[in-house]
Amino acid sequence: MNHQTELSPGSVLTYRSAPRIAVIGAGIGGLTCARELHLRGCEPVVFEASGRLGGRCSSRSTSVGWFDDGAQSIGGATRLGAYAVQRPGELAALHPWTVPATPTEDERKGRDWDKDENEADATRTLKLMGAVGVPSMLALAHAVARPLEVRLHTSIQQAWRRGATWVLRDSAGEIDEAFEAVVLGIPAPLALPLARESAGLAAALRAVRYRSRWVLLLGSERAVNLPGYREFQGSPIERVAAMHSKPGRSSTMPQRWFVEADERWSFQHAHEDAETVADLLLDNFRSHAGRSVKPNFLCAHQWQHGFVEAPAAMPGQPECLWDDKMRLGVCGDSVVASQIDRVHRSGLAMAVRVAEGLMRRRERSAMGTPDRGSRKVFEAQAAHS
Ligand SMILES: Cc1cc2nc3c(=O)[nH]c(=O)nc-3n(C[C@H](O)[C@H](O)[C@H](O)COP(=O)(O)OP(=O)(O)OC[C@H]3O[C@@H](n4cnc5c(N)ncnc54)[C@H](O)[C@@H]3O)c2cc1C
Repeated sequence: MNHQTELSPGSVLTYRSAPRIAVIGAGIGGLTCARELHLRGCEPVVFEASGRLGGRCSSRSTSVGWFDDGAQSIGGATRLGAYAVQRPGELAALHPWTVPATPTEDERKGRDWDKDENEADATRTLKLMGAVGVPSMLALAHAVARPLEVRLHTSIQQAWRRGATWVLRDSAGEIDEAFEAVVLGIPAPLALPLARESAGLAAALRAVRYRSRWVLLLGSERAVNLPGYREFQGSPIERVAAMHSKPGRSSTMPQRWFVEADERWSFQHAHEDAETVADLLLDNFRSHAGRSVKPNFLCAHQWQHGFVEAPAAMPGQPECLWDDKMRLGVCGDSVVASQIDRVHRSGLAMAVRVAEGLMRRRERSAMGTPDRGSRKVFEAQAAHS
């Protein structure tokens, strides 16, 4: 078209539309990928099976208040905080979390602290636990998702190719939209049925192993005699974290405690019911915090795909998987490790890979060259470190 020519009334101008990409899973991996695709001019649509954002990095509302019920803190550098504007006087959406490195005298009183505690050091130094979402992990997920189209309560059960595009099906039937690419930001066992069109990706996902993990959410009307964060060795409980010790959370009663069971204990009790697990973990919590703990709220939850045991990528390998021919990708802890900072990088790498793959395809079709799309599946680069 001659750019100097004026359009006559009634003329229709058609520009090529932004590529629509389906991102399955609104955990940190999927959300990061979608946000970056959005920044690159794509049109991602995020499908989330549950009713909330964040996946295993989220928070749960209960009758005694909010609990971060998965990841407690984020170690390592991420750009997650940059997705939200910090207004004057507000804490950043991602804020450092520090806890006293040694217990107070009150906390010590009558307690048999572990042998590894440095009893000689009475100085109240602060230990950095990492960064946390403010006022909750869920709020952080919302900050990442703010400009995105996210469809909650939409569990994707099938994905297949129709011509050059992807079609999805949820429990209500086929979704009447076509997508140029699909990204799976979900644990490998859940991703596998959706990756059948790519033999390479399906094989990689089949090799990924996950371990389940029990957690207990505990509310107490009386202050619990433990520091705000503590790890245990040789105990059914791996660590505890008090919500009131984190920035931006309310410190009013009841206190809310996150109790994470040990990996082995979680495995041994994998088939127990939640009530029995709650009683067992409470009993153990009391052995650390004192028999006088009387909870007014108890809820045990099993994360079925809690932590990845053997991710798809070996150290030094790409942080996402991408089948350029099928235009199907996988990001999240299935590929890297169960650490938010690494999952975030995986989402970033995935977005770069998808955007580049689609751009190459459009260039090829603009030049009239057939789309051979023949690159090897695992060539995705770790574009962000
Ligand atoms: C108890 C616990 C404590 C942890 N603590 C820490 C910590 O302190 N620090 C840290 O760095 N990491 C921690 N981790 C690990 C970290 O939380 C995870 O590695 C990370 O959150 C995984 O993110 P993801 O986006 O890959 O997957 P997920 O967070 O699992 O997100 C996947 C999302 O996809 C949805 N979904 C699944 N199937 C479908 C489908 N078919 N259709 C649509 N949606 C679907 C799920 O509902 C979920 O929301 C912890 C994990 C657990 C379980």
